[in-house]
Amino acid sequence: MQNYQHILLAADFSEHGQYVAQKAYDMAQQNQARLSIIHIVDNLPITDTTYGPAIPFDVDLDTELMNAARKRLAELGKQLQIPKAAQFIEMGNAKLEIVAVAEEQNVDLIVVGSHGRHGLALILGSTANGVLHHAKCDVLAVRLKNN
Ligand code: AMP
Repeated sequence: MQNYQHILLAADFSEHGQYVAQKAYDMAQQNQARLSIIHIVDNLPITDTTYGPAIPFDVDLDTELMNAARKRLAELGKQLQIPKAAQFIEMGNAKLEIVAVAEEQNVDLIVVGSHGRHGLALILGSTANGVLHHAKCDVLAVRLKNN
């Protein structure tokens, strides 16, 4: 079997994130692959017409969220020895952005946790499930359990 050459870790900074990150790091070492990381800042529903024009579109809030996320991603990048150019941050729908960046960057393996910030209620979290369905490359869903 051919080694993976470019692995993308989807980091949501959840409680189990370190375990998933370690798995991605180990996979990269074993395959002598490049490792990149990505975090998606969720789109806030501040332009939702349901709430009418009373809620302004707050660009500053978006910028602040992006900056905070960028800082956390940089910390994880430092820990995993990943250069800035391989740290990706996007705003929008997590599963779609992860898959889009994976294609743009010629990633051949995406590593996600089986669950993230949305809890362990489902067999597979919605982001992990969405990435599995949409990705054109292999996906490793690192199994996370309650105990
Ligand atoms: P979920 O499906 O939300 O329970 O999350 C499952 C996995 O998808 C997490 O362990 C992460 O690997 C990835 N993931 C979820 N949300 C994000 C996000 N906003 N940015 C990057 N990766 C994410």
